[in-house]
Amino acid sequence: MTKFVFVTGGVVSSIGKGILAASLGRLLKSRDYSVSILKLDPYINVDPGTMSPFQHGEVFVTEDGAETDLDLGHYERFTDTSMSRLNSVTQGSIYQAVINKERRGDYHGGTVQVIPHITHEIKERIHRVARNSTPDVLITEIGGTVGDIESQPFLEAIRQFRKDVGRNQVLYIHVTLVPWIPSAGEMKTKPTQHSVKELRSIGIQPDILVCRCDRPLPDSLKSKVSEFCDVPVGCVIPAQDVSTIYEVPLRMEEEGLATQVIDLLRLEQRPPQLQKWQSLVECLSNSTRSLEVAIVGKYVRLTDAYLSVIEALRHAAITINSHVNIHWVNSEDLEKDGAETHLQGIHGLVVPGGFGIRGVDGKIKAVEYARSHQIPFLGLCLGMQCSVIEWARNIAQLNPAHSAEFEPQTPNPVINLLPEQEDVVDLGGTMRLGLYPCRILPNTLAAQLYEKEVIYERHRHRYEFNNAYRNLFLETGYVISGTSPDGRLVEIIEYPQHPFFISCQFHPEFHSRPSHPHPLFQGFIKAAQDYTGEPLGTSEIQEDFTPKTPLPANLV
Ligand code: GLN
Repeated sequence: MTKFVFVTGGVVSSIGKGILAASLGRLLKSRDYSVSILKLDPYINVDPGTMSPFQHGEVFVTEDGAETDLDLGHYERFTDTSMSRLNSVTQGSIYQAVINKERRGDYHGGTVQVIPHITHEIKERIHRVARNSTPDVLITEIGGTVGDIESQPFLEAIRQFRKDVGRNQVLYIHVTLVPWIPSAGEMKTKPTQHSVKELRSIGIQPDILVCRCDRPLPDSLKSKVSEFCDVPVGCVIPAQDVSTIYEVPLRMEEEGLATQVIDLLRLEQRPPQLQKWQSLVECLSNSTRSLEVAIVGKYVRLTDAYLSVIEALRHAAITINSHVNIHWVNSEDLEKDGAETHLQGIHGLVVPGGFGIRGVDGKIKAVEYARSHQIPFLGLCLGMQCSVIEWARNIAQLNPAHSAEFEPQTPNPVINLLPEQEDVVDLGGTMRLGLYPCRILPNTLAAQLYEKEVIYERHRHRYEFNNAYRNLFLETGYVISGTSPDGRLVEIIEYPQHPFFISCQFHPEFHSRPSHPHPLFQGFIKAAQDYTGEPLGTSEIQEDFTPKTPLPANLV
């Protein structure tokens, strides 16, 4: 029987509910409990796939091809478990399902209302994850903040949930803020008290309060919070800011979060196995050497837009006991000022994914700089497409050449629309999405890094390498080292006359986990370290990269 934990947030947004949910998942998993984590998002978009990265940060893609909230990336990385499309639910998708049922006549003439129809659909989505993956514990994070108009149907649904499935099966954790007020020289618990009052007015009494704070929470304030919010002192858990998100599970373990959760859910107490996680955090915090890696993109003002790329770089750096110092370069600035101004002194360059023509020329210039200066280069999705355009223009002498996405009339569309995309009109959920196999060509850099003949990676794109130019590219020295198994779609390209130059059409960053760094990122980081001229460091974290969850049935 699955037990249910609900995580809500109060006082302000961005308080770390996602990391908290993911950390609790890690702590339960380290006790051998199976865990799944569900995100309920209050916005009306059916999924975040159509949102600007400036609004929402990265769109995380699951193996089964759902475009989801970036918190799903944290869930996967912390629990080392792949999530599915069922693990991300928006209010828009709930309304869409209810309205579709209404149009079909499923409600038999009834008036369709928030309560019970919307709340019923929300509860059904929670049960669906429990039925599908049968975890010991299903953690559900409610996006937004208590008091938001939009969150109300979700809160009402989770209130009803306890009555539906039984008291000891359900637990409510509320994450709040205890701010330090400089002028008073004190920490204040009032916002937490108000937030809990708001939650109680909806009918939810939190069982555990997690109090975010920037300094230690004195015992007197813990008692005060306990007193006013009717939560036992042991269940008032301070969550002080830490230097790396991966430290949060360790701090939460020290504060007794998992022990309380297990007690309250009437599960068996088991000792946690956190030694590996501990050494990983030590590696992250103690490495004294750093690598200077540039990421050239157009969303660099909000670095959350590249969250999984940042994390994948960090995971890879752990394996050589190093630390990555990221230089964010706005591709439009690079366009104006030239590559030298922004890229001088770096040890490696990543051009990540993206959409739209703005800043593309800057990315192409960055690729040219890395290629001609022998700087390790990793191109991801649009980054690969930019490296193809750069090669076409500067080496294959195809001028002009571009991607049909940016210049539909170009005489040399070296990147072209995927044929299956030609008649696509809707933007939402219509790209080539999710896990696809890729066959690796022997004796290539890709083969050396992956050590496998067939790999599976996650995709999110509409355009692809145009096969009409394949021979020209091969003749001029490019290597196509990964293709779809039928050889039709180009998935990985590399340039052997270079210490490390590789690009892929997929998004390897979504597969990287702290305990299983991705081979492309590992290769890139090692090459960047070589570029510094200093020897590689060693670390205990040297795990192989292997899929952790069974492949979806259609790919077996
Ligand atoms: N815009 C490109 C395409 O649709 C690349 C997408 C991406 O980088 N995710 O093919």
